[in-house]
Amino acid sequence: MASNRLVCRECHLVNDADAETCASCASSSLTEDWAGYVVIAHPEESDIAAEMEVTKPGQYALKVR
Ligand SMILES: [Zn+2]
Repeated sequence: MASNRLVCRECHLVNDADAETCASCASSSLTEDWAGYVVIAHPEESDIAAEMEVTKPGQYALKVR
């Protein structure tokens, strides 16, 4: 996965590299400085999702700086 994709600092969603706002929460606080790629398909069944407070299925970053 290319690391130049932009991750939202608010919800950790992985957005396209040319995104200007987050597709999930519409925040404009996006960063290329992130690590750990995780796909959450069933947030209601996922411990990681609960820990990250993710409620929507999608691609997320574990660490955002
Ligand atoms: Zn977001």
